[in-house]
Amino acid sequence: MKRFSLEYYLDGLRAQNTVVLAQSITLVESRKRTDQDLADQLLNHILNQESKSVRIGITGTPGVGKSSFIEGFGTYLTSKGKKLAVLAIDPSSQRTGGSILGDKTRMETLSRNPNAFIRPSASGSTLGGVNNKTHEAILLCEASGFDVVIVETVGVGQSETLVNDMVDFFLLMIQPGSGDDLQGIKKGIMEMAHGIVINKADGDQEKLAKRSKTDLLNALHLFAASETGWSTKVELCSSLEKKGFDLIWQMILDFQHIMIENGLFQNNRSNQNVRWFENRVNFGLIQHLSDHTALKKNIKELRSKVQSGELSVSMATTEVLTIVKQLLT
Ligand code: GDP
Repeated sequence: MKRFSLEYYLDGLRAQNTVVLAQSITLVESRKRTDQDLADQLLNHILNQESKSVRIGITGTPGVGKSSFIEGFGTYLTSKGKKLAVLAIDPSSQRTGGSILGDKTRMETLSRNPNAFIRPSASGSTLGGVNNKTHEAILLCEASGFDVVIVETVGVGQSETLVNDMVDFFLLMIQPGSGDDLQGIKKGIMEMAHGIVINKADGDQEKLAKRSKTDLLNALHLFAASETGWSTKVELCSSLEKKGFDLIWQMILDFQHIMIENGLFQNNRSNQNVRWFENRVNFGLIQHLSDHTALKKNIKELRSKVQSGELSVSMATTEVLTIVKQLLT
């Protein structure tokens, strides 16, 4: 891919040019050393821009209606004068019931909306829709004037925790279901969510959706109250009939208002930055060390000794760390 000067990217972002925004995200996702240096400079330049954005993470199992919701909710937000960026799951990386959803065009209306920007995450390098440059992509979208950023994820492994660590508001989307179905929702995810949306609250399912809401609220009562002054809200929605978007947006605004009032909004973002930094350093250190030829050889030998039972795990670990310490002195 063609690369440009730092000024080109900065001017393009400032001018809210979405082609340049897409190119900037590609740049930060690149693994090439020269690209990474340029990406570092770019990210450092946009650092001090005051952002009045809200970052929303949306998680839910495939088929729950995330893309239908983002399409409808996003259109609603742009009609209210918002500029929306969506860091979406690449459908080609998603499988449901054995069939690949690649042929389905997700968020078709929104993709033609001049006030919306949709970036499917690069396939192959994602964990449920999140890749290791999603945080950077959020900052680039904000630098380009997008004031609502949605990060979509499917509940795979650690993807919810990863997303929760880069957004302000974490939204869990579920379908109307019986008490048994609700039991299946991982407790950790429920506790993490600032809002739970029961989608498909329409037609035959509307009654069930209302019952699910009561059940959920009862279940949420069992959790310890959050120290932030916010307790998880539950809203009904029909993405099909475009119902509930106003209440969901109000819920997010209320949350943001409370968090800004009690000083936790910025505080949370600062803490997220610290964790982001620490994770990057850890990751970088491990990568750097694992590229070390002699160390690699040592670890390989120790691994087979652990496997054959010749050496205990703890002794083998100590040996590796001793070698690492020697390398660093
Ligand atoms: P995703 O995999 O989570 O992105 O889910 P989709 O948005 O692709 O939706 C999965 C299916 O649910 C599609 O057939 C949608 O038409 C349907 N669907 C989505 N939202 C609603 C809704 O609010 N009501 C009803 N009845 N169906 C919906």
